[in-house]
Amino acid sequence: MSPDVDFDAVVVGGGPVGLFLGCRLARRGLSFLVLEQREAPPPHSRAIGIHPPALELLGRLGLADRMVARGVLIRGALVRGERGVLGELEFSGVSPYPFILALPQRDTETLLEARLHELRPGTLRRGVSVVDVDDGTSHATVTYRDNAGEVHQVRARFVVGADGHRSLVRQLAGIAYPGRPYQDRYLMGDFEDTTTYGATAVIHVTQGGVVEAFPLPHGKRRWVVRSEPGLREGAEDLCRLIHTRTGLHVPASTCSMLSPFGVGRHLATRFVKGRVVLVGDAAHEVSPIGGQGMNLGLLDAAALAGALEQEVRGEGSSRSPLLAYQRQRRRGARVAARQAEFNMFFGRPVRTPGPRERVLRVMLARPLRPLLARLFTMRWL
Ligand SMILES: Cc1cc2nc3c(=O)[nH]c(=O)nc-3n(C[C@H](O)[C@H](O)[C@H](O)COP(=O)(O)OP(=O)(O)OC[C@H]3O[C@@H](n4cnc5c(N)ncnc54)[C@H](O)[C@@H]3O)c2cc1C
Repeated sequence: MSPDVDFDAVVVGGGPVGLFLGCRLARRGLSFLVLEQREAPPPHSRAIGIHPPALELLGRLGLADRMVARGVLIRGALVRGERGVLGELEFSGVSPYPFILALPQRDTETLLEARLHELRPGTLRRGVSVVDVDDGTSHATVTYRDNAGEVHQVRARFVVGADGHRSLVRQLAGIAYPGRPYQDRYLMGDFEDTTTYGATAVIHVTQGGVVEAFPLPHGKRRWVVRSEPGLREGAEDLCRLIHTRTGLHVPASTCSMLSPFGVGRHLATRFVKGRVVLVGDAAHEVSPIGGQGMNLGLLDAAALAGALEQEVRGEGSSRSPLLAYQRQRRRGARVAARQAEFNMFFGRPVRTPGPRERVLRVMLARPLRPLLARLFTMRWL
């Protein structure tokens, strides 16, 4: 390594994407540091669905089995309309991991952190906030403050912004993040599972708006409903909406997490500028309806680790590996955003449910059903 740098890469942000990138860089033998402002993974369950392509990557890191042991294997989904089942999706046969793994994001982050510690102890620094990035010609300098208020600097060949959708790294690099909010608003909560759905995900496409129900570990279930104007958005309000739309009783007193959220779509105009590279939510935001955001970020990180290694080892041909990373992953983000829009469209309230239900029946019947199963498990990536 050149004497004027301390690391090949400094990764700003140790969320799921930054931690996973650290593991991949460790595997490729690069020197790096992950800087994370939080002292521990946040308690919120947030992303719960890990799709087959991401599981395959996690499997190569020796992590998929540990995750599978803690999660629930969703092997299929049932789509219900106003008067019963419209169709079923089976995820069998689409991958060595023929299921979507339901695992709360805090567990995913805890397992990733433990794996990073096994692969390269000491590379994650928690409780430190990055405050500046200076992108120079021979290296970039990252300035961060520890929780005692002391200021430190490190020099790296590349700085990766894995610092989420409000990314300071992106702002400091002057990279635009155009996009827009959608009109849709949702209310999500985790409750004790009192349904008979077992490990099946059930999507209720009702006249008043979608009600999604996903199994979680430890006998819980995640409910996501499309909200309605004027709703107070407490646990009781969520349970009342579920009951009005599906007839199911969910006990509000068992709520362990509640989160109202609006959704938006953003895409950084570039993922690479000088020595700064963006990854995960720092590079793109897609609506969580469809559960793709974290998966997209993990796939970005896998591609980025390879591109960084080529850049560091000088193996890039005339077309820079980082520019190839940018092109490929911006395309992935656009496809995911379009799919999330498709999911949201089918979950909006309608005056007459009949026509939409007829379309869904066709889409869920052979020969379209396997295609839809591929789409919903992110096999297009
Ligand atoms: C309600 C909801 C449900 C979701 N459900 C799903 C789902 O089922 N499936 C799915 O794939 N995705 C889902 N997502 C999206 C998913 O949560 C995100 O895409 C994912 O967290 C992005 O990971 P990340 O590491 O890029 O960013 P983040 O998780 O935002 O992590 C960024 C990290 O950077 C740190 N950081 C920020 N600034 C600094 C700084 N200056 N210095 C040091 N550290 C810094 C932060 O503390 C944070 O830990 C959901 C999102 C929401 C809101």
